[in-house]
Amino acid sequence: MLSHQAIPGLHGNAGLVEDWVRTKQTTLVLGEKKSLAARPNGRSADFIAPSTSNGCAMACAYCYVPRRKGYANPITVFVNTEKITGYLRRHVARQGPKPAPNQCDPTDWVYDLGENGDCSVDALVSDNVRDLVDTFAEPAGRQGELRHQVREPRACLGTTRAAAPACASP
Ligand code: SF4
Repeated sequence: MLSHQAIPGLHGNAGLVEDWVRTKQTTLVLGEKKSLAARPNGRSADFIAPSTSNGCAMACAYCYVPRRKGYANPITVFVNTEKITGYLRRHVARQGPKPAPNQCDPTDWVYDLGENGDCSVDALVSDNVRDLVDTFAEPAGRQGELRHQVREPRACLGTTRAAAPACASP
């Protein structure tokens, strides 16, 4: 398939709005992350890291995603995490030591991880979060902030898998 965002019957199907939560509980999309970029931020993080997933297990009333993502927002996990973590390692190495304290952190470069997804759910269905934690647990000088929305992802996903989410800032 050319794109994980063009799955027939899933994206662009207006009728799926009626089945918003069921789609999230029953559909897991595996994709390949193609474009890699760490965007400068400067507020809570120095950089926004390329995402290893997108989608979530929630159904917030104010969500704008239905308008932008073709009426369905299932959890999508990227399978080429080695490429993503390799990019991040090289990006950190290029920065060198942080030259001066800023509002993100006095000494370390801070990367926002999981901007487009939900780390707690991703950790339940894949090793992506573990791979990111391992990447940021390497030599000092970097920190990763993991974003997540769900306190009890198993309940949202309707799964009985017993593994606890490994979602914690290193
Ligand atoms: S967590 Fe974010 S993406 Fe998910 S439903 Fe809520 S607003 Fe939308």
